[in-house]
Amino acid sequence: MENEITNHGPAWLRSDHDPAAFALAFVNTYDPMRTITDLLANPEYCRVFLSEWCEMDWDLDWGKIARRLQLFRDDLRSTLIRFMSGELALDDFTLYLDHKLMHWPWIARPVADGQSFRVAFVPSPHLKPVQHVEAVVTRALADLIAELGPDRLHRCESKPCEEIFADHSKSGRQRFCGKRCATRFNVAEFRKRKMN
Ligand SMILES: [Zn+2]
Repeated sequence: MENEITNHGPAWLRSDHDPAAFALAFVNTYDPMRTITDLLANPEYCRVFLSEWCEMDWDLDWGKIARRLQLFRDDLRSTLIRFMSGELALDDFTLYLDHKLMHWPWIARPVADGQSFRVAFVPSPHLKPVQHVEAVVTRALADLIAELGPDRLHRCESKPCEEIFADHSKSGRQRFCGKRCATRFNVAEFRKRKMN
């Protein structure tokens, strides 16, 4: 699948990587379950994280980039959590995304594949790498919520995990980010019941 919203400009997502998966990995760069809790708190970890997902010019001031992306992520993550918990209404969250997306110029790019023709909006090639990452993450998150519906982003309930994940299950009631967290939660519940 071609990443039409990202394959452009001074930084871009690798072509085999999904923008939505990148957006979720980005908001989950803060993770209390990981030995390194915050990948963006350290320039080297920030560079390694981005190199897994993106192609970009690596000869940059990574201290500055990590700090800026960390602030951006903290704001996005806390707003997203408020939205997921119902504290922030969909209208207000939409406004928040709108304000963010307005910051970056987008250009129209025609996409033709022999049989069909349409226009995709991609981040302007004039954006700096950090701005590009921010634009792609915000857009992919907005697209993901639009595609799945507003109730399909969840935060893992197995403490201390705080992973934000997209619930693709049929019922839409997935509570944990993965099997390991589900098991840890169930074991803890079982112990609690046994103690009482
Ligand atoms: Zn989890």
